[in-house]
Amino acid sequence: MGRGYTEEQIQQVVEANDIVDVISQYVTLKKSGSQYMGRCPFHNEKTPSFSVSAEKQLYHCFGCGAGGNLITFVMNMENLNFIDAIKHLSQIANIYLPDPKAENDAESIKRERQYKLHREAALYFHKMLIKDIPAQRYLFSRGIQEETIKKFALGYSTSKFDGLFKHLSYKGYTRQEMLDSGLVLASKRDDGCYDRFRSRIMFPIVTVTGRVIGFGGRLTEKSEKYPKYLNSPENAIFTKGNHLYGLNIAKNNIKDGKIIAVEGYMDVISLHQAGVKNAVASLGTALTKGQGRLIKRYVDEVVLCYDGDEAGQRAMIRGIEVLDGLDLSIKVLRLPAGKDPDDFIKKEGLKAF
Ligand SMILES: [Zn+2]
Repeated sequence: MGRGYTEEQIQQVVEANDIVDVISQYVTLKKSGSQYMGRCPFHNEKTPSFSVSAEKQLYHCFGCGAGGNLITFVMNMENLNFIDAIKHLSQIANIYLPDPKAENDAESIKRERQYKLHREAALYFHKMLIKDIPAQRYLFSRGIQEETIKKFALGYSTSKFDGLFKHLSYKGYTRQEMLDSGLVLASKRDDGCYDRFRSRIMFPIVTVTGRVIGFGGRLTEKSEKYPKYLNSPENAIFTKGNHLYGLNIAKNNIKDGKIIAVEGYMDVISLHQAGVKNAVASLGTALTKGQGRLIKRYVDEVVLCYDGDEAGQRAMIRGIEVLDGLDLSIKVLRLPAGKDPDDFIKKEGLKAF
C-alpha cells in the first residue's frame, strides 16, 4: 500500500467532504452560474479568477493556472503530504481512520469484516422481503411504494428462529463475528444462536458513505411480548449517537440549506415519498451532539419535527438543548397533538406540511 491508506478509505474521506465547504474555510466563494468564484489563495489578485466546481469537485485558477481536487487543495494550502492531507480531511469529516501503518492490524480487519457482514445481512433481509408476500402487503398497506423499498433497501426478517444465523454461517462468518455484530444472540440453553430480529420490517442504517452498520426493525403485527421497534446494539462499527437514519439520501437532496430531523424510520420514508427528501431520523429519542455535528457538515439550519405527543415534545426540547452551541439555526415544525409526520403527510399532503 504505497500511499498508506486503502483506495476505499481514500474514497470514503473524499466522498464525505465537499470541496466547496472545504475551500470556503480559506476563500470567500460566491456562486456564479454553475461554479463558485473567489480570489485565488495561491497568487495575489484583486478580481476573483479562482473557480470551484461543486459538480466536478475540482478547482482551477484562470490567473495562475493552479488547479486540482480536494486532496491537492489541502496539500497545497496546509503544506501537507498526501497521507496527512487524507488524515486532515478525515478529521474534518469526523471519520475514524486507523493509523495507516497499522492498517492491517487485527482491529481494522475485524471492522472490515463487520461492514461486510452487515452488507450481507441487508441483502439477505431484502431478499426475504421480496419473497414474502404478506410482508410486502404490509408495507403497501402503509403506503410504501416499491421504488421506496428499493431506495431505502428495506428488508424483512422472517419468523424463523435462525434464518440469518444460518445464512451468515453459510457465507463463512464465525459465531463470534455474528455475536459481535449484535444481529445474532447466543442461546441460553445450549451453544446455539438465534436471530435478534424476527418478524420485522428491516430498515438498514447506512453511513453517509453508503455502508450498512446496523438495523432498525419494526414488528409487522401487534405484540404484547416484544417491542414495536428494535434497534441494533452498538458494535465495532456502529455508535448510535454518531449516525442519522436517512442522511445518506438526504445529503444529496438538501433543500433551502436545511435538514429536517424527525423521530422515526417511517417518518423519513413517508416524507421522502411525499417529496420531502431532506429528512433524517435520530436513532433514539432525542438528538445527540454528534448527530448535530453531522448535520452541521451539510447545512446551517435544522428543522425539528417530532411527534405531536408528550414524549415527542420532550425529545424535541432536549434536542434543542443538545444542539445549542453548534452554530446551527434551529427551527421547530409543530404538528397537531397526536400526529406524527408519517400520518400527517399522508392525510394532509405536502402543501399542508
Ligand atoms: Zn491563482
